[in-house]
Amino acid sequence: MRISSVKPFVHPDFPNLVYVEITTDEGVVGLGESYYFGSTVAHFINEFAGPSILGKDPLKREEISKSLTTYVGYNSSGVETRARSAIDIALWDIAGKIANKPIYELLGGKSSRPLRIYNTCAGKEYMRKSNQSSKSWGLDNESSEYEDLKAFMNDAGTLAQELLTEGVTAMKIWPFDLFAEKNWGSEISSTDLKAGLLPIQKIRDAVGDRMDIMVELHALWSPKAAKEIMIALKDFGIFWVEDPIYPDNLDELESLRGAGMPEIAHGETIASRKRVETLVKRNLIDVLTLDLSWCGGLTEGLQFAELAEANGVRIAPHDCTGPVGLTIGAHLSTSDENALIQETVRAAYRTWYPHLVEGIPQINGGTLVVGNEAGLGVKMREDFRKDIQTLRLAVNS
Ligand SMILES: [Mg+2]
Repeated sequence: MRISSVKPFVHPDFPNLVYVEITTDEGVVGLGESYYFGSTVAHFINEFAGPSILGKDPLKREEISKSLTTYVGYNSSGVETRARSAIDIALWDIAGKIANKPIYELLGGKSSRPLRIYNTCAGKEYMRKSNQSSKSWGLDNESSEYEDLKAFMNDAGTLAQELLTEGVTAMKIWPFDLFAEKNWGSEISSTDLKAGLLPIQKIRDAVGDRMDIMVELHALWSPKAAKEIMIALKDFGIFWVEDPIYPDNLDELESLRGAGMPEIAHGETIASRKRVETLVKRNLIDVLTLDLSWCGGLTEGLQFAELAEANGVRIAPHDCTGPVGLTIGAHLSTSDENALIQETVRAAYRTWYPHLVEGIPQINGGTLVVGNEAGLGVKMREDFRKDIQTLRLAVNS
């Protein structure tokens, strides 16, 4: 069997998402996805990645991954790696379809326990376009349903109660980001520190310890400011602090470790196996939040997961991107005994994800269940495909 076409797609309403459809000469079709500046990734697929894999055996994923590892951009989640990630996910979809098994079966089957989820408290328009900043939070949206970002900023206690009613016992919020935007996160005033703690206090007042709280810092802070925030969070029994700093300098990350400090989750933007190895071997993180649509795909992500497990670090695959990203992450976390929890975003899952694809894993209360369809189990909806923009149509053999 050979790869006969590679088509990238970008929908004008979701410009940060890119899809890639790979077809074989025997008519098997695989779907992949990546996220962030979708058309830029699509151009790279059309220009290089697509043509270079035509005629190859789709089951030779390692070989294809190596052939798409570029001289520049190979060790970051830049355009080249995002393209490689989307292609790799599509190849796993093809592999599952050929074997007539869901991907998690190819990974060894379901683990012995239900897959717990947490809710990332974003809104429906969150980060649909452009770069990560409060300008892309979609706060202009006037609806209130599933506007969990507005809810955590204004009334986090009620939001926590609502999530508990649904059976969701963990939530992620980012109440400090706006303050970081004042001065590129170089320092935090005591007033802002107190204001950032307020939603967390409201959650504890409303539901006590029944809700696990993740505090996302989006790598916006200097090590000094991040440390002040993390020390202030010590009293709140935080489940984890995510991406406190850009860990370019690992000694800075080390300065945030220590007795009583909140655990650190990190890794969604990492695409270097060596970097993962260093982080887990030096005990710099507690949870690896890998993103398979950014790190080089499932083929690379499995290497990351293996390194994490061997060094006592749990994994928690990233979402807050798109429905295929959630699904491939769920295949991994469903099959991996070392998966701590799976990220989900109910504002996306219940509103726009189902308009793009069908077959997304089911959220049942506080758990996620992946179906038993062959491959990913997810396919693009025909009505979504109709108005999709195809960038320079197929790369056909
Ligand atoms: Mg994150």
